[in-house]
Amino acid sequence: MRAMDTPIPFCGNPLDREGLRRRDRAWLDAQLVDPATRFLPVWQTKPLLKRLQGREAAAQRGEAERSVDPREGGRALAWAKREFFADVEVPEAVFLGSGDGVAHFAVDVSAVEKPEVAFGIADVASFDDLRAAVAMLPAADAAIAAQARTMVDWHARHGHCAACGGHTRSVLGGANRVCFDCQAEHFPRTDPVAIAVVVRGDQCLLGRGPGWPAHMFSALAGFVEAGESLEDAVRREVMEEAGVRVGRVRYLASQPWPFPSSLMLGCVAQAESEQIAIDPAELEEARWFSRDALRAALAGSRKDLGAPPPFAIAHHLIRAWVETDAGGE
Ligand SMILES: [Zn+2]
Repeated sequence: MRAMDTPIPFCGNPLDREGLRRRDRAWLDAQLVDPATRFLPVWQTKPLLKRLQGREAAAQRGEAERSVDPREGGRALAWAKREFFADVEVPEAVFLGSGDGVAHFAVDVSAVEKPEVAFGIADVASFDDLRAAVAMLPAADAAIAAQARTMVDWHARHGHCAACGGHTRSVLGGANRVCFDCQAEHFPRTDPVAIAVVVRGDQCLLGRGPGWPAHMFSALAGFVEAGESLEDAVRREVMEEAGVRVGRVRYLASQPWPFPSSLMLGCVAQAESEQIAIDPAELEEARWFSRDALRAALAGSRKDLGAPPPFAIAHHLIRAWVETDAGGE
């Protein structure tokens, strides 16, 4: 199976996370008051996005053709200065990283009511659902938004220590939290998800979950469980959901999936059986598809078969298999 050569949304974050310098509280404090520092407001997991118009939108489409749908109009992260938050109470800013020599932070403004009105920005920007907006964002902005969404959400939900119940505080610019009482360290969680195209010769097994858009099929996926390898998770999930036995599993590529904190681990799995027996709790239907059928589905030219959208890694896994010579893996 060929390497994946198209960029996968939410990957390629351009910021330097400064793993060494963020240990230095004085350096972080200096960044927080530096007038050049940029802050991304996030409200109830929605990043603040500005609406691009005219030439700005056209320029963005030219530079990021693959990731921006011109029918939707452009969006970009709306970075703010520190003064933006002067009148509101917000938790400690979360350091995202440095870019162009400037520090970038995310700020949780979830406590603000009607934030677009409160901040006086309703004409130019809005707090948008990232899943809906990703197709309108440049690749770099989508990746930064993914990091910001995951981190702000994690901090908001981890104010207490899982070991003793005491209050926790943000340290290292928000890279982790420490308990005031027992000093236990808590790290942002990342939940690994195994996702695989299951192939056998010129056939690829895809499934559709209950309640999915009509005719849409996608790669089978499930969380990697504790003490389980990625390969074993793929074999277990495919057997549980579709009743198909899998042998060799090969890892292809990953994608951060910030809803809220997953890491999709994309694989190609070789099927050793063909008979399908679905678990109706997980899948409504599973079927084998030919390369020709999936090529047409990816191109949007089949009314009776839909492929996952380009912001999902499943789209790229299916495309990589379709573009591999028949008989290859
Ligand atoms: Zn504790």
